[in-house]
Amino acid sequence: MPSVFTKIIAREIPAHVVYEDDLVIAFLDISQATKGHTLVVSKSEVENVYGLSDELAGHLFRVAARLARAIQKAFSPAGLNVLNNNGAVAGQTVFHFHLHLLPRYEDDDVTLAFVNHMDDTGQEDYKERANLIKAALS
Ligand code: 5GP
Repeated sequence: MPSVFTKIIAREIPAHVVYEDDLVIAFLDISQATKGHTLVVSKSEVENVYGLSDELAGHLFRVAARLARAIQKAFSPAGLNVLNNNGAVAGQTVFHFHLHLLPRYEDDDVTLAFVNHMDDTGQEDYKERANLIKAALS
């Protein structure tokens, strides 16, 4: 389904494009959560990670790694998150596949916190979860 990113790809709305090829475009996220925050976007209207072909997934990540190195060189961040949200509950707001490259600085105001549930996850839970994923792969 067409999205705001479709309009950026078609140059119907402006964006600060930093990279483009036949499959992928990358531009600055308008929010600039941190300096250099960049989105790597599939040109085809794939909604989320579940719809990526192997070829497109591989290419997106190759481009993301290349851009991460460029961001590292350009801004010397202390770290960098590669993030992807799938589904509203996971924080997705634009339903057109994209990776966030989020440079991290010592004094930034980003909050990304995972609660550790190791203490209330039994060995049987780990086994069952791993087996379910492995079975679904085949
Ligand atoms: P999501 O929440 O889906 O993972 O990320 C969507 C991102 O797209 C947000 O970080 C938001 O700031 C960015 N965004 C939304 N609309 C525009 C736009 O028109 N231009 C640009 N450059 N970024 C946008």
